[in-house]
Amino acid sequence: MRFFFTGLIMLFASQVMIAQNLDLSIDQLNPGISDYTIQLSDKNEKSTLPIRVIKGQNKGPVFTIVAGVHGYEYPPIIAVQQLMNEIDYKKLRGTLVILPIANTAAFSGRSVFYNPIDGKNLNTTFPGKQNGTITEQIAYQITNKIIPISDVFLDIHAGDANEDLISFICFYNAENFPKQTAEAKRLSELGGFENVVSYPYTLKQSEPALYAFKQAVQDGKVALSIESGKLGKVQDEAVKEIKNSVYLMLNNLTIYKKEKLVQPSIINNFTKQSYIKTDVKGFFYSDLKAGDKVIEGQTIGYVTDFFGNKIRDIKSNSSGIILYKIGTPPVNPNETIFCIASNN
Ligand SMILES: [Zn+2]
Repeated sequence: MRFFFTGLIMLFASQVMIAQNLDLSIDQLNPGISDYTIQLSDKNEKSTLPIRVIKGQNKGPVFTIVAGVHGYEYPPIIAVQQLMNEIDYKKLRGTLVILPIANTAAFSGRSVFYNPIDGKNLNTTFPGKQNGTITEQIAYQITNKIIPISDVFLDIHAGDANEDLISFICFYNAENFPKQTAEAKRLSELGGFENVVSYPYTLKQSEPALYAFKQAVQDGKVALSIESGKLGKVQDEAVKEIKNSVYLMLNNLTIYKKEKLVQPSIINNFTKQSYIKTDVKGFFYSDLKAGDKVIEGQTIGYVTDFFGNKIRDIKSNSSGIILYKIGTPPVNPNETIFCIASNN
């Protein structure tokens, strides 16, 4: 339950403290809001990792909320900005640890998926490296400082600037962590989304988790993720449903009480995903949208070369609904262009 940050600037709501070496335990924090900016640097570059800790008046679980692992996914980032500024610590049981933008360089640089400083995707970098590149350092901080103190770890994403998707909430079906998986499933199903996706989990303890919330699963935490919003826009509807979801979970865990929340009457559980990739570079065309139903063998799009000649037909490899797809013209070899979800 301890933070060990070096080169850290610490700002309390009521006081400012600058520390080079900090050893902080949530247990020792006073109730209220504490803002931290972790200074990251490698040989050539600098960046920051902002963290807000909201400690409630009463003891309870530590619920961690992460946005901006991908800096161009705005609905989660905006939803978390609103959430962390409307929650009253005096009514909070337990502690919220909030990373409002995990990848500040990608956010400020308007960069899709990748950190412009080192060209790395934070969500394929876990567990990270203490003295690695900036992205590796962010992953290291989350793995070693944030996940260990979390009881629940929620990583919020949206469709990036090139992705069309339907909103969903998801967890890993990690059979070697039955208790945590059951709780992640339970929270997913009460989390306000009609679509609940479970991913298979075959990761060995010795393998790198790569993804933020998969790292938390590997470390034995209750972990889940939300996807809401698409195509690099701030959709009000997505901001609302993300907030609704976080509040539903906090309500259920009796961490924070909130009225007028909405829960769909029917839940679709998707337990299987099929990924469709292309092997060529070019222009991608499809009349289909995320949420559309497709059947196995159906032609669901095509790719042309830079002169407009069709070079590939894209066929579905399974029947189900389009969970997400590329929603803009460019495609590259080995990119997933469709994810088809089903429940068998
Ligand atoms: Zn993302």
